[in-house]
Amino acid sequence: MELHVHNSMSRKKERFEPLDPSHVRMYVCGPTVYDRAHIGNARPVVVFDTLYRLLKRLYPRVTYARNITDIDDKIIERALERGVHIDTITEETIAAYHADMSAVGALSPDAEPRCTRTVPQMLEMIGTLVDKGHAYAAEGHVLFDVTSFADYGKLSGRSRDEQIAGSRVEVAPYKKDPGDFVLWKPSTPEQPGWDSKWGRGRPGWHIECSAMAKDVLKATTIDIHGGGHDLIFPHHENEIAQSVCAHGGVQFSKYWMHNGFLVVNGEKMSKSLGNFFTVQDLLAKWPGEAIRLLLLKTHYRAPLDFTEDGLREAKGDLDRFYTALRAAADVKPSAAKADAVQAALCDDLNTAKALAEMHELARQLNTARSPDAKAALLDAGHLLGLLRSDPESWFKQGTGAGPGDAEIEAAIAARLAARKSRDFAEADRIRNDLKAKGVVLEDGPKGTTWKRGG
Ligand code: AMP
Ligand code: ZN
Repeated sequence: MELHVHNSMSRKKERFEPLDPSHVRMYVCGPTVYDRAHIGNARPVVVFDTLYRLLKRLYPRVTYARNITDIDDKIIERALERGVHIDTITEETIAAYHADMSAVGALSPDAEPRCTRTVPQMLEMIGTLVDKGHAYAAEGHVLFDVTSFADYGKLSGRSRDEQIAGSRVEVAPYKKDPGDFVLWKPSTPEQPGWDSKWGRGRPGWHIECSAMAKDVLKATTIDIHGGGHDLIFPHHENEIAQSVCAHGGVQFSKYWMHNGFLVVNGEKMSKSLGNFFTVQDLLAKWPGEAIRLLLLKTHYRAPLDFTEDGLREAKGDLDRFYTALRAAADVKPSAAKADAVQAALCDDLNTAKALAEMHELARQLNTARSPDAKAALLDAGHLLGLLRSDPESWFKQGTGAGPGDAEIEAAIAARLAARKSRDFAEADRIRNDLKAKGVVLEDGPKGTTWKRGG
């Protein structure tokens, strides 16, 4: 099955042909760890996790790297505000990030390089750029000279004027050109820093990804580089400039892929606008799989309008899949695969189509209850990172509100006793009382089962 992806560099959908089909390399820009992730931050994670799952299906070896930016002005500020060491902030945030992303079904990347542990590699790359005449030192800073790279602006398609307006950087007196960007900047004695031949300082944001991609993927050209749409300029434009110039003109990444924004009432969800929901807050009310499915319902390149109604619908879709699986609990799955789902994903990750195919598989399982239908639905779940729960526990999971499992089981026993003594009014009262508390009873040949949120 051929994979096609939209390449932001060519602005076209292209056939994916890895440089080395025996080993695919992918790099995705990860979080700056100073605060809990919001659901917008989870979008690239879920999108590229889905791509990772597909690549693993198609190729014998895939190395997926997603970095952690653990040194940044926002982190330094946050540590000062709280009066703690920056490691306290970063360690806490990384642990929370791992928990949140695992709850939305993201596999761990193969490599998760950290900025603070890659400084020597960054300094080496900066040195190479200076030696080759692509960077210069000025007032404790080292800057990349954008005029030294003819292709600068090719990814974003921005003109020189737009680049300067878009970089939102003060036109500093030590810059030769207002578009030049920082590779290294000085640290005050209180700020974290590393010694270098340009003085004690810390790296700029862009250089870390160039250095880490090379370091962990062990290649100067990689197959796929991904991230949110906001990273195209200046971040990815700058990564390209650094890597291409440091490596004698070789291409940095063959394919560039970018996810669209998650928006609320038409505005990008972001910390600075304050219109965000953290993954943690949403997880208190919704299963992680519902969050993931919501993120996959919209094609990754399109804007995704976030609403709680959308989450409710996503939960409903999952209830349907799990209902089919629960009814087929005694069917032993064959080795059948979800070919139609895989084919949809191979078309530039058409997850909306993949989910429609998954509904079709659930329909088939409901009607046929066959080993092939069950296997295909489970395989679809595996490809999309869904259906990771046991169906019985899926329906029993709650939000912490409402009656506990034991209370529900006791009420069911009381209802059964009422029915046995032909007190149907009492049995109905118990049933309606549970319903009012969000618990639905279903009477079947093997007794009464229950689920929350019906
Ligand atoms: P940040 O921590 O802000 O650097 O963002 C981490 C990742 O989340 C980057 O790949 C961003 O492009 C992405 N991101 C941030 N906000 C959104 C959003 N509202 N929608 C989609 N992706 C986002
Ligand atoms: Zn990056």
